[in-house]
Amino acid sequence: MVSSMEHPCLRCGACCAHFRVAFHWSEADASLGGCVPPELTEKLDPHRLAMRGTDTAQPRCVALQGTVGVAAHCGIYARRPSVCREVQPSWESGTISLQCDKARLAHGLPVLTPRDWFQPFDADTPPLPQIA
Ligand code: SF4
Ligand code: SF4
Repeated sequence: MVSSMEHPCLRCGACCAHFRVAFHWSEADASLGGCVPPELTEKLDPHRLAMRGTDTAQPRCVALQGTVGVAAHCGIYARRPSVCREVQPSWESGTISLQCDKARLAHGLPVLTPRDWFQPFDADTPPLPQIA
């Protein structure tokens, strides 16, 4: 088995540095069961928050650790917003992901192909991202 560090997301992070990451405010309200750290968010409108750093012309989530395209991971993986959980890397489940492809291309990275998943990785280590 190859190293968990070979999971494509752990060499990427592009989607955490490309999209505005917006979600309902309740996801950062612990009294309502929310888990996103509120100090890492900012108000977007009466209904939504955004991860700090993502509502800009050149987004980069404040929780993103590392260097895009080299080694990157989410610093709040277990507490990341729902939109982050929904983004799938291309071909992990057998189909392309337009968000993944768009983010990678924007950062000058090639889109993932089925070959990137040819070897198994350590499923005990969570992959990265996931935005909206
Ligand atoms: S989902 Fe795609 S763009 Fe996001 S970190 Fe993984 S490989 Fe990169
Ligand atoms: S997965 Fe983590 S680093 Fe990426 S956008 Fe979401 S909160 Fe930020």
